[in-house]
Amino acid sequence: MSSAQAPSETPRHYQLFIDGKFVDAESGKTFTTPNPATGETLAEVAEADKADIDKAVQAARRAFEGKWSTISARDRGRMLYKLSQLVESKTKELAALETADNGKPIRESQYIDIPSVVENFEYFAGWATKIEGETIPVPGQMFNYTLREPVGVCGQIIPWNFPLLMAAWKLAPALAAGNTVVLKPAEQTPVTILELAKLIQEAGFPEGVVNIVPGFGETAGAALAAHKGIDKVAFTGSTEVGKMIAHAAADNLTKVSLELGGKAPNIVFADADIEQAVSGAMMGIFFNQGQVCCAGSRIFLDERVKDEFLDRFKARAEKIVVGDPTNAATQMGPQVSEEQLARIKGYCDIATEEGATVFAGGCSPQLEEKFQKGFFFQPTIFSEVKNSMRVAQEEIFGPVTSVITFKDEDDLVRQANDTIYGLSAGIWTRDITRAHRFAKQVHAGVIWINTFNMFNAASPFGGYKQSGYGREMGRHALDLYTQVKSVWVDLSGKPIGWFGN
Ligand code: ADP
Repeated sequence: MSSAQAPSETPRHYQLFIDGKFVDAESGKTFTTPNPATGETLAEVAEADKADIDKAVQAARRAFEGKWSTISARDRGRMLYKLSQLVESKTKELAALETADNGKPIRESQYIDIPSVVENFEYFAGWATKIEGETIPVPGQMFNYTLREPVGVCGQIIPWNFPLLMAAWKLAPALAAGNTVVLKPAEQTPVTILELAKLIQEAGFPEGVVNIVPGFGETAGAALAAHKGIDKVAFTGSTEVGKMIAHAAADNLTKVSLELGGKAPNIVFADADIEQAVSGAMMGIFFNQGQVCCAGSRIFLDERVKDEFLDRFKARAEKIVVGDPTNAATQMGPQVSEEQLARIKGYCDIATEEGATVFAGGCSPQLEEKFQKGFFFQPTIFSEVKNSMRVAQEEIFGPVTSVITFKDEDDLVRQANDTIYGLSAGIWTRDITRAHRFAKQVHAGVIWINTFNMFNAASPFGGYKQSGYGREMGRHALDLYTQVKSVWVDLSGKPIGWFGN
């Protein structure tokens, strides 16, 4: 299969991956996932529900208490490293499948998604042997040390925007730290993760260490989040569902980490390099069809550069090549689903009703016959937006950005922070003092200065406010997947004298 080719037109078939085996759902049910570029069925997939989640959690528990606990940190690291190499060797096939299932352009799946998956497994492979406890200088004839132990069985629920990469962000630190996992992919994009299951087997992970249970959120997802047999739940997705997960986990006091929505301010000051800022605005909102939780969906523009910036931004947005995602020259593919497309169109109506201007885009592009049923939308810019409008406050999750102008820096900070979210922010300026001042003042987990949408497996990512809790990637991710045990040892050999001898 070449990188530019879509996988075969006949639907593929996938089963659940539980306890090291590919099995049908207990109910025998299946669901289909379409190719968002054509609307045709890409695959038929076994549909997990509560019974399958129970089976998977039991398998993960057996593995956690059995074979997996006897495997050395070095061997865990070696398996993760082998997995990274297996994924790398299948880059073209996995990228083609990711594009077919999600709709993202092949140049993104092949050169960003899959290489980042490789990077994450490789990075955390190195951590397996470096998870250490500490010795604490306590007073008296006492020795106190800590053990950093795995949390146990982890439920992981992931979204559809970076299917395999979101799986890697969650699996890699969990496995490095010695946990076992039950992972539920999004119903829109289960395919590459089930392909990954085959590579997980090949890499030598014992049965039950990783279980993959595709299914719907309200059934499989809800059953996993509320399961008494899991020790931790990690979720990436909408803030709305994140709250449901936190509620479900609260009943069992299951540990939770959440990576949720965003409405990132991308701030352009008058002294910015305008060409650089325009390219950053493009990267901020049009990358991955705008289906990015940290997308720069609120552009704050200094009034003095408004015309110059908007003219260039519009001209470049209109030049984006939208269409066949399997074509190497395509820069934007379809949205992931019909629901997402309808949601985006709805926000175009809302923008107009609220008094904003549809400055560029605003509808689906005209494409050749084969893609008439695809979920495509044009790169879209709303101007004359006020920060209080719905289009500036609600996460649209599409290639749609709102431009808000500003005059005064203090009010800008207030507006930038006037959102329930706090995932990321961009700042464009040549003034180093202002750049760092803003980096401190903006309430967000990730700040990009004169750049946008930069990630690395070694650098922490996560949100402030309703964008969630916990940090994925980097050493911080290990905090989510380990717990600390404090061990006290008497060195005096004498009885404790407190109540007399
Ligand atoms: P989006 O709205 O972008 O599709 P969601 O937050 O709904 O994002 O979905 C992210 C993940 O959460 C998916 O795997 C989905 O199946 C799952 N999910 C949706 N609803 C629930 C729920 N009530 N409980 C648990 N998981 C859910």
